[in-house]
Amino acid sequence: MQTHSSQSIGIIGGMSWESTQLYYQAINEGVKQALGGLHSARILLNSLDFATVEALQHQGDWAGAGKLMNEAAQSLERAGADFIVIATNTMHKVADDTMAGIDLPLLHIVDPTAEALRAAGHRKVALLGTGFTMRDDFYKGRMKSVYDFDLLTPDDADQSLVHKIIYEELCLGNIQSDSRSQYLDIIEKLEDQGAEAVILGCTEITLLIDQSHTHIPLFDTTALHAQAAVNIALKI
Ligand code: GLU
Repeated sequence: MQTHSSQSIGIIGGMSWESTQLYYQAINEGVKQALGGLHSARILLNSLDFATVEALQHQGDWAGAGKLMNEAAQSLERAGADFIVIATNTMHKVADDTMAGIDLPLLHIVDPTAEALRAAGHRKVALLGTGFTMRDDFYKGRMKSVYDFDLLTPDDADQSLVHKIIYEELCLGNIQSDSRSQYLDIIEKLEDQGAEAVILGCTEITLLIDQSHTHIPLFDTTALHAQAAVNIALKI
């Protein structure tokens, strides 16, 4: 039997489960590709009820959301996780609360995304995600302060549309070609404003759009975050 000591990846998921299953698949594919044979990833998954999370978000109860996330991180730490992955962009808004008192590293979703953008040589980049991710400082602020990226975002009406499609369709696994066309129109407007690349900064957007739909380079946070988790787990 071939042995390999990989780290155990602690995922806080279920936000939504439609994208957590993509993480599960991508991480296992990544480990299989690196190690071959019957190797698969060591994963601990704490999958939350997204209805509860979504209600806290839209009520603006971020303290409550942070507490829920912190309890999830604690359970993963007790179970033996070596590091934590928050499998959503939006909930990085409460990354500090999530990790309070937790003696494990967090693989922040902005980091592998920014590193990939930098490696590709992009400077002017657009961000699509939930309203929280596009508007609030937790995401754009880290992109700016750590990586010196100024992100372009859609105008208010387009932000509302992008947000609505995420919560009312993508998180329910409902993939509509009309919504794809609307996203592609918004991407075209961002390109007209000078965007060289687009961050799919919501882990479900990859269900709707992929590189076959547009020539502008897309940076899929789900795939980049999952691959970074593989690299850490295998110490690649
Ligand atoms: N998964 C999405 C994200 O990456 C949105 C769902 C959520 O609010 O967590 O932001």
